[in-house]
Amino acid sequence: MPSSNPRHPNFPIPGGHELRAKGWRQEGLLRLLENVLAVGENPDQLIVYAALGKAARNWAAHEKIVETLKAMDEDQTLLMQSGKPIGLMKTHAKAPLVIMANCNIVGQWAKAEVFYELEKKGLIAWGGLTAGAWQYIGSQGVIQGTYEIFMRIAEQRFGGSLAGRFILTAGLGGMGGAQPLAGRMAGAAILCIDIDAERAKKRKEIGYLEEIAPDLDTALQMIERAVAQKRATSIGLVGNAAELYPEIYARGVVPDIVTDQTSAHDLVHGYIPKGMSLAEVKRLRSEGQGQLMAASRASIVDHVRAMLAFQASGSEVFDNGNLIRTQAREGGVDNAFDIKIFTEAYLRPLFARAIGPFRWMALSGDPADIGKIDDAVLEMFPDNKIVTNWIALARQHVPFEGLPARIAWLGHGERTALALRVNDMVRKGELAGPIAFSRDHLDAGAMAHPNIMTERMKDGSDAIADWPLLDAMLLCSSQADLVVVHSGGGGYAGYMTSAGVTLVADGTDAADERLTLSLTNDTGLGVMRYADAGYVESLDEIARKNIPHLPLG
Ligand code: NAD
Repeated sequence: MPSSNPRHPNFPIPGGHELRAKGWRQEGLLRLLENVLAVGENPDQLIVYAALGKAARNWAAHEKIVETLKAMDEDQTLLMQSGKPIGLMKTHAKAPLVIMANCNIVGQWAKAEVFYELEKKGLIAWGGLTAGAWQYIGSQGVIQGTYEIFMRIAEQRFGGSLAGRFILTAGLGGMGGAQPLAGRMAGAAILCIDIDAERAKKRKEIGYLEEIAPDLDTALQMIERAVAQKRATSIGLVGNAAELYPEIYARGVVPDIVTDQTSAHDLVHGYIPKGMSLAEVKRLRSEGQGQLMAASRASIVDHVRAMLAFQASGSEVFDNGNLIRTQAREGGVDNAFDIKIFTEAYLRPLFARAIGPFRWMALSGDPADIGKIDDAVLEMFPDNKIVTNWIALARQHVPFEGLPARIAWLGHGERTALALRVNDMVRKGELAGPIAFSRDHLDAGAMAHPNIMTERMKDGSDAIADWPLLDAMLLCSSQADLVVVHSGGGGYAGYMTSAGVTLVADGTDAADERLTLSLTNDTGLGVMRYADAGYVESLDEIARKNIPHLPLG
C-alpha cells in the first residue's frame, strides 16, 4: 500500500506488494517516478529539485508514462525525449525497459536563452540529472558527498576534526538542504542562509536543520556559542546570501569554511537577486527574463566577491557544484576561479578509483530492508572505513524521505558484490520486496562537466563528452533497466553531459546478470576514464582489480 505524505498529501509515497505493472522491473521504475514527486520540491509543477529539474515534460506526458509502464511487456523499450514518452518499441527481454535523452541541445545552440525559449514552447525539459531520470531520493542523495567534502577539509586543514569550526553556506533546497545535516554530522557549527522561509521550515520539519534564527545577530551569537563549546549545530537564517555574505564579512567574522548551494546555475528559475521579493521574481520569470538574468548575475557578482574576500582572510572556500563562479566570471569577476571546485580539491582520488555515490531504494517501502542491507554492507566491507563510518552515522542521523533509501560511496567490484548479495536476499525472501539501485550522475565514467566534475583534469580532457556517451551505450549493452543521457539546460546550457542508470534487483537470475554486467562495466569505464587521463590511483585500481583496460604502447 502507498503511505501518506504529510509534505505533499496529493503525492503518496509508493510501497506495498501489489503489482500494477506486468513485472517488478516496470513496477519498480513506476514507483521511482512516483517517489521523485513525493519527495520533490514542487510536485504540482512536476518540479523535483535544482530550480526547474522536472520528472516529466507536463501532466499529459506524465499520465502517458504511467499508463505505459503499467501496460508494457518486458521485451519492450519506452523511448523518452526530455520528459515526454515518444514510442514503445519491440526489443527483447534483456534490453533496457526505458531509455531517455534529456535536454541535449546541439553545441552552438546550447545556451540558456535558447533553452528557455524551447522550454516555453514545451519542446524540452531540464531533468536536473536525477529528477528527469526518476532517481532522486531527497536531500539524502548528496548528503554523503557533502559530508565527505567537509571531512576531507577537516583532514587537510583542521587536524582531522571540525569540532569548534564554523561553516557558512546558503541554499536549503532539494540538494542544498543536505548541508545542515552533513555539517552537523561532521561536527561543525553550520549557518545556512535561504531567502525562502518555507524552504528553511521544510528542512527543519524533516530533521535536516535544527534551528532557525530570527535575525543575523542572533544567528552569529548561536554559532559563536556552539564554536566556543565545540558543539555541532545547524542554524538556518532567512535572507539573501548576496546581502548577508558581505554583511558578515563587513563585521569581521571569518568562517572556517565558506561555500554556497543556491540555485546559481539558473538565473531565471533558481537564483533570487538581492532586493527583490519572491513575488516580484515570480512575475519577472514570465514577463522579464532578460531583466531577471541581469539582476541575478549582478547579485552573484557581490555574492562571489564576498566569498573571495573570505578566502583572502583565510577561510577555506569552495564551489559546491552550482556554477556560481561561472556566473560571476561572466558577470566580470575575473578571479572567480580562484575559488576551487570541490571535486578536484577533495574528491578526485576517490573518483579516480570510481568510488562514488551509489544508492539503493526499498521498493516495498519497508525501512527494515534498508537496515538489513546496512548490516550486509558492514559485514561485506569491514575494512572500508569511509563506508563503515558512513553507514553508522547515516543510521543514527539521516531520516528517510519517501521510499526508504541509502546512499554509500562504493567503488568498482564493491557495487556489484553488494547488488548481487541484495538480489540474493530478495530471492530468499529476506527482504520485504525488490530493491532498486542507481547512482548520482556525478560519477567517474558518467559525467563530463568542465566546471564541476572534470575541471582541470590532468590531461586537459575536461570538456570531452565521449565518456558519458560511451557509458550510456555500454549500460544499454549491459542490460540496465533504465539508461539516460543528459545534458545541460537552464543555466547549465552547454555546460555538461552525463549518463544515468537504474537497475531493479527482483531476485531473479536475470537480475543477477543485469546487475553484474551493468555495475561492473559502469565503474570499470569510470576507472579507465581516469586512467586515460593519467591518474595513478586508476592505474593501480586497474592492476589490482584486473580491469580489462587496453593501454596504448
Ligand atoms: P533548489 O532550487 O531546490 O534550491 C535552491 C535554494 O536556493 C532555494 O531554497 C532558494 O530559495 C535558495 N536561493 C536562491 N537564491 C538565493 C539567494 N540569493 N540567497 C539565499 N537563498 C537563495 O536547488 P538544489 O536542488 O538545492 O540545488 C542547489 C544547487 O546545487 C543547484 O545549482 C544544483 O545544480 C547544485 N547541485 C550540486 C550538486 C553537487 O554535486 N555538488 C548536486 C546537486 C545539485
